[in-house]
Amino acid sequence: MDRLFTQRVSSRIAGLAEAQTLGMAQRVRDLRSQGKRVVSLLLGEPDFPVPEPIQEAAIQAIREGVAPYPPVPGLAPLREAIANYYACQYGVPVSPHQVVISNGSKQAIYNALLSILEPGDEVIIPVPYWVSYLPLVHLAQGRPVLVPTNQQNQYRLTPDQLARYITPRTRALILNSPSNPTGTTYSREDYAALVEVLRDHPHIWIIADEIYDLLVYEGKAVSFLEFAELRERTIVCNGFSKAFAMPGWRLGYLIASPDIAQAAIKVQGQTTAGANIIAQKAAIAGLTSDIETLLAPMRKAFRERRDVIYQYLATHHPELHPYKPEGAFYFFLSVEAYLGRKTAHHAPFQTADDMADYLLEHGLALVPGTGFGMPTHIRLSYAVALSEIEAGLSLLTSALHALA
Ligand code: PLP
Repeated sequence: MDRLFTQRVSSRIAGLAEAQTLGMAQRVRDLRSQGKRVVSLLLGEPDFPVPEPIQEAAIQAIREGVAPYPPVPGLAPLREAIANYYACQYGVPVSPHQVVISNGSKQAIYNALLSILEPGDEVIIPVPYWVSYLPLVHLAQGRPVLVPTNQQNQYRLTPDQLARYITPRTRALILNSPSNPTGTTYSREDYAALVEVLRDHPHIWIIADEIYDLLVYEGKAVSFLEFAELRERTIVCNGFSKAFAMPGWRLGYLIASPDIAQAAIKVQGQTTAGANIIAQKAAIAGLTSDIETLLAPMRKAFRERRDVIYQYLATHHPELHPYKPEGAFYFFLSVEAYLGRKTAHHAPFQTADDMADYLLEHGLALVPGTGFGMPTHIRLSYAVALSEIEAGLSLLTSALHALA
């Protein structure tokens, strides 16, 4: 029969995974609308208001009637502010022409992949990974090459692991530090060891997702752009959804060598064009404020919550193998000890998805690790008030004890 009738959706899209985090969030909304109390430790967005100077700048821009199409690569003062941010924060020379502003960093990552991949090119992705890397690589017709990492070193990709997976078809490596879902943050030494390997493979691009760079609780993040010898083939993606607490304003960016920046501008010019101009005006105010002062309350709260959770888990749930994440706002916990268990009402748990369903029945929503490439794990977000976290931990304990 005509393909038009048998297959209405393209195979590329039909095979695309749906975002698991969004599915879980919908189930929580459904349960709450039925009047059920659910503690949700799902969220990937800060529970803090948009900082005041950012709000004010947006309001002012609206009042001034700012409304034209923005330039595709972004407003010049914002590109300048981002270049300046990387210069001040990491000591790396970035020209505003290397910066391309997008509708969220997710788009920046997609622009980057579309700009460098030929069909079938391999992209090395350490596991666990942020949920969208795989679908984005597929959409860009690349081939994800998944590299398992170890809990012992908090899921950091090691130079040996990297070297083992490089082939002549490898085109890119995606790194994410601090990481979603693990919170793991690469030190300068960790990165330097990877640079040693990458030095000998000039055909590999490094896509460094640095979206949580300002949410680090021990020391300071390292940017991959700090490694001058690889700068020509490094594409940094970052954005305003996390530290600046403005995920719904949809604003992110990439920094790349001018040829790749031009390619990304071409892609974006033919798809979405420039990002929301009000959000861009507002972000300029954020980046030109005293960032440390602006973010201090959020960082302090996240650090406190992290410490409370770690203390609790280390004391009550060593079987979940908790470790103290250095950044972002997640714990990634092993539920392996509970796989194979069952209750009078449940068949033996096969994966973290079964565990997540079970915990949801107990009123606690966590994201199963399946979408992050590890169906033996579960992600707990601490982007919620401490009182909710405490309620969640207590539900976790009672639900797990019922399985003992
Ligand atoms: N990268 C990572 C690691 C993330 O966790 C997220 C959001 O959850 C993004 C990228 C995308 O952020 P946005 O598109 O909101 O800038």
